[in-house]
Amino acid sequence: MGDLRFGSIGCGAIGREHCNRLINTVPGATVVAVSDYVAEAADELAKKWNIKSYGSDSDAMIKDKDVDVVMITSIDSTHHDYVMKTLAEKKWCFCEKPLSQNAKDCEEIIKTEVGIGKRLVQVGFMRRYDTGYAEMKRIIESGEIGAPLVIKACHRNVSQGPGFKTENGVTNVAIHELDICRWLLDDEYEDVQCVKVRQSKNSDKGYDNPQVMLMRTKKGCFIDVEVQVADGYGYDIQCEVVCENGTVKLPDPYAVVRRSRPDKNNSPWEAMPIMTDWKDRFIAAYDVELIDFVNAVHNGKLTGPSSWDGYIACVAGDALNASRGTSQFKKVETMDKPDIYK
Ligand code: NAP
Repeated sequence: MGDLRFGSIGCGAIGREHCNRLINTVPGATVVAVSDYVAEAADELAKKWNIKSYGSDSDAMIKDKDVDVVMITSIDSTHHDYVMKTLAEKKWCFCEKPLSQNAKDCEEIIKTEVGIGKRLVQVGFMRRYDTGYAEMKRIIESGEIGAPLVIKACHRNVSQGPGFKTENGVTNVAIHELDICRWLLDDEYEDVQCVKVRQSKNSDKGYDNPQVMLMRTKKGCFIDVEVQVADGYGYDIQCEVVCENGTVKLPDPYAVVRRSRPDKNNSPWEAMPIMTDWKDRFIAAYDVELIDFVNAVHNGKLTGPSSWDGYIACVAGDALNASRGTSQFKKVETMDKPDIYK
């Protein structure tokens, strides 16, 4: 089989990164066309790679017979619509997280995929492809340190663009934790609660910062995720799983720790850099994710994060957003899992 021909919607930060990856790093794939809400952004990227620009006409690109796979890297609120249009063409789809803005829209995607009778959609939950998280999962599943009990995690971003709202702290940011925690634990959410705590002076733009998200699982585990969307210092992702006889912790991305005497202080110190750009933090995981996706499409069967996984994250996200200000846990209630996702 020849290279899989991708058409990419959304020529912003991650769209450009993924196109570069597909063209230069991922075997068995290439990008043949791009589109963007702003036609000039598509034209510019198309010119760089000498490929076709559909300008702002993403719908036409989805229908193009030369496009085998539609990659969706436009803003969150557009994902559901483009996934539905891709499924209408019965084409493969790689959709960046989140699958949709809410569970109801995900249900529509699931019903359509089930109607087609096979998985066509993979969601960009790339942390599952990160070596640190993968090793944590291996140790937890080995049972060597007993059953998992508690997860302590944090997701901290430097800043947010205009239009960011409190609920996006769940739907855009903590959505990664909502996926990775149930994946690490091989467990499902029972109920969840979003708590507003003392607010940081780093944000005065009208959204909550920080927020603490609490999740309880069906097996009785407790998860605590601190979410800061304007932390004033870096892109800092941490995760520790406490088990009966030990703990596993996500490694920091820099392996080298510097021990030295700083210039303006006599006491020695120990330090490592903290990244500020999300693009660097999981850079290897993005490569592995897309290599895995392309191999799976060549084999005719997707194995990565599914529409079902995208749906579960949105169900839990809806419950978290509904719980804000109530001081109560909200149940996470899902439909029955269709066979194609088992
Ligand atoms: P971005 O830089 O704002 O890029 C989004 C692009 O989509 C922009 O060029 C935007 O145009 C365009 N766009 C907006 N509405 C559109 C529409 N209706 N049709 C086609 N294009 C449209 O954002 P980003 O950081 O690349 O994020 C893009 C998506 O990837 C988001 O859903 C985000 O959640 C996800 N993401 C995932 C990860 C991850 O770790 N997996 C990391 C980053 C981002 P304008 O500039 O004119 O609005």
